[in-house]
Amino acid sequence: MSSVSSKTWMILGCWQTTGMLTDQRYRPGEALLDELGIRRPEDIDLRIIAAHLGLRIRRRCLDGCVARLVTGPRGGIITVSPDASGPRRSDGSPRERFSIAHEIGHWTLGHIHSACAHGDIPYGRGGRHEAEANAFASGLLLPDTFLRDSMPGADFDLGDARTIARQFGVSITAAALRLVDLSLHPVILTAYNANGLAWWRRSPTFPRHWRPVTTASTGSYVHEVFHDLGRGLLGEGGPHPKAASSWFAAPDADGRTVIDHTLRAGGDGSGFQAISLVRLLP
Ligand SMILES: [Zn+2]
Repeated sequence: MSSVSSKTWMILGCWQTTGMLTDQRYRPGEALLDELGIRRPEDIDLRIIAAHLGLRIRRRCLDGCVARLVTGPRGGIITVSPDASGPRRSDGSPRERFSIAHEIGHWTLGHIHSACAHGDIPYGRGGRHEAEANAFASGLLLPDTFLRDSMPGADFDLGDARTIARQFGVSITAAALRLVDLSLHPVILTAYNANGLAWWRRSPTFPRHWRPVTTASTGSYVHEVFHDLGRGLLGEGGPHPKAASSWFAAPDADGRTVIDHTLRAGGDGSGFQAISLVRLLP
């Protein structure tokens, strides 16, 4: 690497803390696992995968983003900000691993673009390359073929996402997003921060005109998690039935019931988030 002039290097992108999955397919990440003959979640070692691709991983605090990829004629360097949250594997914490997988996605997909300028681009606003890199990372860390044996039943909640997160070395949010994408049942995952609704992701069968309220209703666990209300919830509420109208403003939400499961999750650098898995009952 030292033989490469720094003038020839390009910054290809950075995975943002709030960047989330999109509608892109996950196949490219899964295909890399196939290529390497990796068959079990515990064998997904990003150091080995990166080395196979000619990428080096280093940890260093970054300003404005949590990871970035710099490339040269002979390979690239992924720099990731150290993170100590969540159960750690030999190749990193859940957040570090997703960041690294995201940068591997940029490299594998041949993205050449400027680094992200901000550290908190909301879900869905990172552009096509960011979406593709997120989908790549999700496919690499949570491949369909591995998840098939771990998929919970129709009545899944964030507890199931927590189990998968531990098994696959990812965050609960990343696992929950994958479950929502794969679910045949009407379910939506939301994230609220101190400013209100940050992003949401619905399963294909969830009513498309039901948009979560911008400000968390007092009838939802999000409100309780943010305000605790002296109930000693310790950052988690539910899973428990709630009126759908406390979550969605749609007229046909009246009289419907959802199962609300909410917990505190890692924030975007400006405070914590409350993520909620909201499942619509028949
Ligand atoms: Zn990126």
